[in-house]
Amino acid sequence: MSSKKLIYLDHAATTPADPEVVLAMEPYWRDVAANPSSLHRCGQAAIKAVDEAREAIATFMGAAHPREIIFTGSATEANNLAIRGIVKNSVFDKPHVVTTAIEHASVLETVRALARQNFASQNLGGREQTGTIEATILPVGSDGRVSPDAVRAAVKENTALVSIGYANNEIGTLQPVAEIAKVIREFRKTQSPRLQPPASSLQHPVFHTDAVQAAPWLDVDVKKLGVDMMTISAHKMYGPKGAGALYVKDGIQLEPVIYGGGQEYGLRSGTENVPAIVGFAKAAEMTGEWKKSAANIGVIEKFRDDAWKEVQAIAPNAELNGPVKNRLPNNLNIFIPDVDPEIFLVALSEDGICVSSGSACAARALGESHVITAIGKGGNDGCHLRITFGRQTTEDDIRALVAAMKKRLSV
Ligand code: PLP
Repeated sequence: MSSKKLIYLDHAATTPADPEVVLAMEPYWRDVAANPSSLHRCGQAAIKAVDEAREAIATFMGAAHPREIIFTGSATEANNLAIRGIVKNSVFDKPHVVTTAIEHASVLETVRALARQNFASQNLGGREQTGTIEATILPVGSDGRVSPDAVRAAVKENTALVSIGYANNEIGTLQPVAEIAKVIREFRKTQSPRLQPPASSLQHPVFHTDAVQAAPWLDVDVKKLGVDMMTISAHKMYGPKGAGALYVKDGIQLEPVIYGGGQEYGLRSGTENVPAIVGFAKAAEMTGEWKKSAANIGVIEKFRDDAWKEVQAIAPNAELNGPVKNRLPNNLNIFIPDVDPEIFLVALSEDGICVSSGSACAARALGESHVITAIGKGGNDGCHLRITFGRQTTEDDIRALVAAMKKRLSV
């Protein structure tokens, strides 16, 4: 490998932990290392740190109360808890779940798994059942947007859950989450209270959004968005890997996915990862402050737009994947026809430019991206390139990216 300086432009895959986050975590590996469930003073110090972190995350998400925040080991796990938790606790024989074709795999594959799960081994009194749930996977437009009207048309009496991500991890599309929430609230008014789960103050369907990619850049206030559940991940916002959180609005009854000692209000058993939770909270506080500044966001948007202009000058046949507006400020996803993606990515990497061809998981699986297919751009010969900028990205980084692309595309 060459000794060239590495330029990291893959912030949708993960972000480096901020040095202040690392510092905040440090005492919790060693000095405050007791089990938060222990009743002695050492354990009390650890649970205090978890409680404070819960408050910080509640503030970050605009939750009404810290108890609405459930810490998990990842956003993947939080999405599983949201979906499986509602389905398992549903009053419907066969709950209906609505999602979109461009969700992150942790949503889409969970929904698909539930839809195909075979109950043949269970006594269903002669009834045939091919899946635990009925699923509607909504298509998206060529910009990756799902229309609130499509959601209105899809929800029905047995719809237990609508799960639609706020910002797409590959093409950066922002969904009209607040409008969809309104559609769902209107639908609820038409539903008979008899179908409400007992002890729940909320009518179905519950609206969940995966805000993992939106959280570093946009306001993710759950009240303003009108969502009932929301997922975020620490490592996408300069926190540690291995920490996620699920906001669960008071009154929503979930069945756990992981059973055990009853931590996290009984919804996620397992000894809390105190250092990661503390780091998550620090990252959320810093991110909350950082994104308050329109100037900060503006700088990132300018990098994105300048880079796109430069790419168009180098490769006039390049196309933008995803929308021009309603897009994450840090996401540039482009299609360059007739360029071999593997060769191009490796060549850029040799020049020290770390970008990706889609999501990190899809890249390992080496399949065609389901997002690119869903926006109607699958099967074309060429390279889909995802470039995602970060808070530390500089103009020099953009210049190096453009120079490397120019060098590799003009051979
Ligand atoms: N949801 C979205 C939109 C993501 O981009 C990712 C990570 O790529 C996840 C969920 C999963 O996050 P984690 O790595 O914390 O499981």
